[in-house]
Amino acid sequence: MIIFGLRASNIGSLKIESSQCEYCKNRGTQNIAEFGRYFHVFWIPIFPLGRKTFGECSHCKRTIKKKEFDSELKKLYAKNKSTIRRPIWHWSGLIIIGLFIALIFILAKTN
Ligand SMILES: [Zn+2]
Repeated sequence: MIIFGLRASNIGSLKIESSQCEYCKNRGTQNIAEFGRYFHVFWIPIFPLGRKTFGECSHCKRTIKKKEFDSELKKLYAKNKSTIRRPIWHWSGLIIIGLFIALIFILAKTN
């Protein structure tokens, strides 16, 4: 049984209207999907660990990695990536640990 490790969840996607799929040559069919990886213990996310970005064509279903993006896709991704935000729950473990430490300090002070 795996009790800790890396997991990923889809944290957002971008619809790219102007780019052309290299494979099927259709325009406006590409999406960029971003996955946030996080370290988990017992499936509880502790802290984030990097992102994985893929491009997918909704017409031919071809997926490409970020390093395979053409210059136009790269440019559009760089311009729009700030709109994709990692959800706060990816930090759950650290938030819980932080609250626990804060609680210990508060209890120590009041005694
Ligand atoms: Zn395509």
